[in-house]
Amino acid sequence: MTATTADTVPAACPRCRSGKIEVRSKSPVAGVWTVFGCPTCLYVWRSTEPEENVNPDKYPVAFRLRPEDLPDLQVVPPIPARGSSS
Ligand SMILES: [Zn+2]
Repeated sequence: MTATTADTVPAACPRCRSGKIEVRSKSPVAGVWTVFGCPTCLYVWRSTEPEENVNPDKYPVAFRLRPEDLPDLQVVPPIPARGSSS
């Protein structure tokens, strides 16, 4: 059991490497898992996930984000208003 590492807040976000990491939730049994969240790129992960999900150096290159690029990313299309016909 890795009770000591589950509570350790990571130094950087695996996806964008932002140093600002928030604790979002903790396991009911203390020290089993912790959910961390990155307010910069909105990535959320659990401490018990595989290395490629939690380690910035092993996170897949294709999915990495740079904080400075976030404002330029394509916006998800808005959901159209409901039609008046039924
Ligand atoms: Zn991030």
